Amino acid sequence: MNALDRSPLHGPFARRQTRRVMVAGVAIGGGAPVAVQSMTNTDTADAIATALQVAQLSRAGSEIVRITVNTREAASAVPRIREQLLKMNLQVPLVGDFHFNGHKLLEEVPACAEALDKLRINPGNVGKGKKRDEQFARLIEIACRANKPVRIGVNWGSLDQELLVRIMDENARRPEPLDATAVMREAMISSALESAAKAEELGLPGNLIVLSCKVSGVQDLIGIYRDLAGRSDYPLHLGLTEAGMGSKGIVASTAALAVMLQEGIGDTIRVSLTPEPNGDRCREVVVAQEILQTMGLRAFTPLVAACPGCGRTTSTTFQELAQDIQSYVREQMPTWRLTHVGVENMSLAVMGCVVNGPGESRHANIGISLPGTGETPVAPVYVDGERTVTLKGANIAREFRAIIDDYVLRKYPKIL
Ligand code: SF4
Repeated sequence: MNALDRSPLHGPFARRQTRRVMVAGVAIGGGAPVAVQSMTNTDTADAIATALQVAQLSRAGSEIVRITVNTREAASAVPRIREQLLKMNLQVPLVGDFHFNGHKLLEEVPACAEALDKLRINPGNVGKGKKRDEQFARLIEIACRANKPVRIGVNWGSLDQELLVRIMDENARRPEPLDATAVMREAMISSALESAAKAEELGLPGNLIVLSCKVSGVQDLIGIYRDLAGRSDYPLHLGLTEAGMGSKGIVASTAALAVMLQEGIGDTIRVSLTPEPNGDRCREVVVAQEILQTMGLRAFTPLVAACPGCGRTTSTTFQELAQDIQSYVREQMPTWRLTHVGVENMSLAVMGCVVNGPGESRHANIGISLPGTGETPVAPVYVDGERTVTLKGANIAREFRAIIDDYVLRKYPKIL
């Protein structure tokens, strides 16, 4: 056996087979590409502010956007939000997020359900006791009448307590009771599956149901979704709830989602980042796209490979160039996406010195290797593996952008 025979060269596992749910033209499951979702944080009653944020998220790449519907004013604003989006020529699917009073709001404002493309119902927040079943039924009847898909979205922060007590009682009667973590996981999964079964009994077709079971612990999320995936064929929405701020939220979400996606589990994803005060809500969309793209599951925008820099680079020139080029391609993408087929697959490299610079640059479609300390102050450029020109002086960034523009024009067919 040689080294190659031993090498575990596996790509992602085959995607889990699921039903396909259509949400206003966006397919979830059934082999469709994993869709990126996000959620607004505006007051939904402010239709203009919410429509503007939905537009920002959509333009950043969110393929489905969820909005809170918590009051009569918010429910009444939903049709106006839709109107504003149509004026902006945006067709992004809108999901209404309902807790506690969804049945009432949807009955009192019928235009709300009409304007939405999907309803998210949290079975832990539908009501208690007898009211729970009755109010859940009212929500499902509205979804059936309006022919809208439903995400049954369980969250461990609002897990149905009566169901949890029932599962704990059942567990206590087992000859070998499960530990508390296993009981919690089972309660989450049962809440999703039992609610889905009830929705189908009430007449909601199975191809209008998506499930999610969100927790904030990475290992819990992985355990729950593996189990859930094996026990149903509903499409699954993935997300680590309350992931947190900044790098903590990004790392935790990536760790959890990457394991699931690698195993073929997950049909839509959301990265639930807490924005910094006045931070950019669209960051969660960019992170979700980058998770899918770096895993080779989808391509959204050309990614720039860049080295971390080290003692061989004493200036910030290459850091600035890497940032400049990544920002430049992101800015161009809304246009390029419409005008040049496949440009999102283009790879770029910006490297700091001769050690790995030429090699990494040759692997990219276009790469540049900047001079490190003590090297001749010139920057060779590689296009499709061949050294083409050498840049120097103060205009390297501008000249490198021109090389990228030229490559895009030559290599990616123009859509007329
Ligand atoms: S390519 Fe050069 S500058 Fe970049 S990390 Fe490697 S040795 Fe350091």
